[in-house]
Amino acid sequence: MQLGHRWPARIGFVCALFISAIAAAPAADNPGQIIALKAARLFDGKSKALLTNGVVIVQGASITDAGSNLSIPSNAQVIDLGDATLSPGFMDAHTHITFDFSGNFNERRLKLLETNVSEIALMAVPNARVTIEAGFTTVRDLGSRFEGSHDFVDVALRNAIAKGIIIGPRMLVATYGIGATGGHFDDTAGFRDFLFGHEPDYSDGIADGPDAIRKAVRFQIKNGADVIKAAVSGGVLSMTDEVDTPQLTPAEMAALVDETHRLRKKIAVHCHGDQAAREAIEAGVDSIEHGSFLKPETLQLMKSKGTYLVPTLMATEYIMAKIEAYPPVLQAKARAAAAARSDMFRNAVKTGVKIGLGTDAAVYPHGQNAKEFKLMVDLGMPPVEALRAATSADADLFGIAQKVGTLEKGKLADIIAMPGDPTTDITATERVSFVMKEGKIVKNASR
Ligand SMILES: [Zn+2]
Repeated sequence: MQLGHRWPARIGFVCALFISAIAAAPAADNPGQIIALKAARLFDGKSKALLTNGVVIVQGASITDAGSNLSIPSNAQVIDLGDATLSPGFMDAHTHITFDFSGNFNERRLKLLETNVSEIALMAVPNARVTIEAGFTTVRDLGSRFEGSHDFVDVALRNAIAKGIIIGPRMLVATYGIGATGGHFDDTAGFRDFLFGHEPDYSDGIADGPDAIRKAVRFQIKNGADVIKAAVSGGVLSMTDEVDTPQLTPAEMAALVDETHRLRKKIAVHCHGDQAAREAIEAGVDSIEHGSFLKPETLQLMKSKGTYLVPTLMATEYIMAKIEAYPPVLQAKARAAAAARSDMFRNAVKTGVKIGLGTDAAVYPHGQNAKEFKLMVDLGMPPVEALRAATSADADLFGIAQKVGTLEKGKLADIIAMPGDPTTDITATERVSFVMKEGKIVKNASR
């Protein structure tokens, strides 16, 4: 009886050991194996020019050396990628891998209410795979909430990827974005009052007043958030708010930033409107997401405070290309944001605002993240700056620059390659042929 009582505990202990052994296993297939990656060019993630005859030496999960014409250890497995450019893995500062907002807006909204959250989680698995196959080895996933559910699908996805159960990018997740009652993140807005049987509260990410905002921040971090996301102005794909109205008071904003930074996380805010952006920047947020209506003075303020802009040009681009798929009220908001954002982005580049690459993946079909590069370059950003936005700049914004974002000794071996020279044809970023994450090859189309 006693034995029978003890065995399950021992089996549990053995299982726990086994699981932790998997989690702790070196990332590379053979940890002792040295891999030398060669290509005609190398972008190191921070320099203004590409190197020629690029070589990156990888051992286990890490880079042991990177540069031009390096001598290759005799015991290394050499992968020669030819007329290609090696680069640190791309990052996307703004994805929603657990969602698919593309297609007809109202059909999608109904489908989301009909679908079991377990099914939504499974449908996110291929989204994660196409994202890393496009060369994006790290993403900041800014919001995953399903009305009527208190599941944390983004946390589950992040953990499953980190454990090697499924293939995808490293994820920093935001769980439920925080917003005001009736604001951009209130999913019950636009439906009959109490249709869902409750008024959303901090446990849905909806909070009013500084104390409730603090509680919402704590609740999300308790449940696995790596980064906090909040909506401080209206948005395009929400039914009852104006696109640019402020949605938090300065006191709420101050509480949001203070609580997030106390808990040593970054705060990313969804913001189209200029007034809301000014207040958010003054409060000390780490990034403004979208920023469509930001005036030159506000961009100056961002520059002086070191606030990042994550412009998500892909989102507006996709919506505008199929504007008829959205309800009239959203069409008007999308048109206004699209009309303003190109000048805003040009001004941001001229002003020298820190810019991170982020796309709002889910608004468009997953896996097309790299199309953001061309949009940035077409609006005046030098190609090498666009490459830096997606590598060392995003790593800095995410707070993980000591681990990823450049090809340097000691960094994790997140390495990609694209054909030709992306500084002469930026669309090369859309044809990533080789992807390695933490020393493991995820894709090699050159073979
Ligand atoms: Zn978003």
